[in-house]
Amino acid sequence: MASPKIDRRRQVRDAKVRVRDLSLWYGDTQALFGVDLDVAENEVTALIGPSGCGKSSFLRCLNRMNDLVPSVRIEGTVEIEGQNIYDPSVDVVELRSHIGMVFQKPNPFPKSIYENIAYAPRILGLGARRSELDEIVERSLKRAGLWDEVKDRLETPGLALSGGQQQRLCIARAIAVSPSVVLMDEPCSALDPVATATIEELIDELKDNYTIVIVTHNLQQAARVAGYTAFFHLGKIIEFNDTDTLFTNPQEKKTEDYITGRYG
Ligand code: ADP
Repeated sequence: MASPKIDRRRQVRDAKVRVRDLSLWYGDTQALFGVDLDVAENEVTALIGPSGCGKSSFLRCLNRMNDLVPSVRIEGTVEIEGQNIYDPSVDVVELRSHIGMVFQKPNPFPKSIYENIAYAPRILGLGARRSELDEIVERSLKRAGLWDEVKDRLETPGLALSGGQQQRLCIARAIAVSPSVVLMDEPCSALDPVATATIEELIDELKDNYTIVIVTHNLQQAARVAGYTAFFHLGKIIEFNDTDTLFTNPQEKKTEDYITGRYG
């Protein structure tokens, strides 16, 4: 199904996340300049652009991970389901528990496959009884396309899996707490082409139930998995549109130059 078009002001109807006038500084160096972006619910939104243009910095604003960088200063608003996550009343630990994050390199906990998935739901009180936890583990692994490969060895270490399986385990872990948004920062960059194709298929399936924002340097990947794409350049969004339009009919010269490989 084609993604709904965005309007002239680049706003997405029923956005799950609304970012307005977001600026970010590392010490004296400004890395994001007044960024506006809507993230559509149950869609994949890709962030593309040359290295160092601010994609990861932007992504890390969506779960306040940049708060962990001592010199960082952030202005603007990020509303998730209508709440500004930068409001002083927000409990950051609680916030992060509702936003899944998948990193470049798979990073399972040094625990069993079962525990990798069960850990966060147990802390959040989602699976008070063992049978409920078992259900969450099974459902998450099934959704991450890993269940059939691991169901007979749930007690073995997550780190014993292949790289692609470890990344699917991390995705299963991210979705186990029914997150509002799943953030993915170049999730395939450490994987071989076969494992990458599996993860891309998985992302495509996950969007029926989850809102996903993915940073990728791989334009083909953005074209394959994302309904919407934002093109970043020097800390600004130059262009945002449904992915087909952005790739086939870019409105800005810079976008066209980038997607045709003239730079970056
Ligand atoms: P991208 O993800 O597009 O490659 P980044 O968001 O990683 O871009 O980086 C944007 C800019 O911010 C770059 O100039 C980078 O050097 C700088 N930067 C990123 N992280 C930090 C940090 N922790 N401290 C200082 N500068 C940073």
